Amino acid sequence: MIFQKNVKNYWKDSYNKLSKLNQLITRSNLLGSDLKVTNFGGGNTSSKIQVKDPITKKMETILYVKGSGGDLGSIKEDGFASLYLDKFNSLKNIYRGFNFEDEMVSYYPMCTFNNNPRAASIDTPLHGYVPFPEVDHTHPDSIIALATMKNGKEIINKVYRGKVGWLGWQRPGFDLGLRMENLIQKNPHIMGIVLGHHGLFTWAIQAKSAIPTP
Ligand SMILES: [Zn+2]
Repeated sequence: MIFQKNVKNYWKDSYNKLSKLNQLITRSNLLGSDLKVTNFGGGNTSSKIQVKDPITKKMETILYVKGSGGDLGSIKEDGFASLYLDKFNSLKNIYRGFNFEDEMVSYYPMCTFNNNPRAASIDTPLHGYVPFPEVDHTHPDSIIALATMKNGKEIINKVYRGKVGWLGWQRPGFDLGLRMENLIQKNPHIMGIVLGHHGLFTWAIQAKSAIPTP
């Protein structure tokens, strides 16, 4: 992996035996333990996990995503919001466009799974609409250095040989989530997205591979 060249991977094989949710917690704690990877209180992580619905007894895909508040380094289960992914995807059908993106936040609690009181943050669409099970958002020093440069887009493209996408600065919200989904659909080969003047998104099928960070 191009991200792993100069970075130690702290993931232990024994973590693969943990439940998906505990893998997410462990991965989050590892990412948050290095301030070069993400600043205190910054960044967020998510997993899309198959869980049995307590009422219908059907298996549902639940988006567990770091909620508002707290820090990745010490986050536990109660730090994650949990949302029905199907419902969260349905929000696209009622979205009225960029000028109305803030109203979408009021719909997030309606997607809640299992009465979880942890509020979903404004970054939730940036995780929910990335079509991969494991998603990490960090603010690594090395990436920020490039993402804040005038010609950051060209430099990222050159450094990562076209394997990392770029989106110019946009306030995190519903619209940015849709733009990320669109960029990935149009460029299925990319392994991550750098958000200009902001940070990095990476994803993977398994928690183990989601962890590489520059
Ligand atoms: Zn961020």
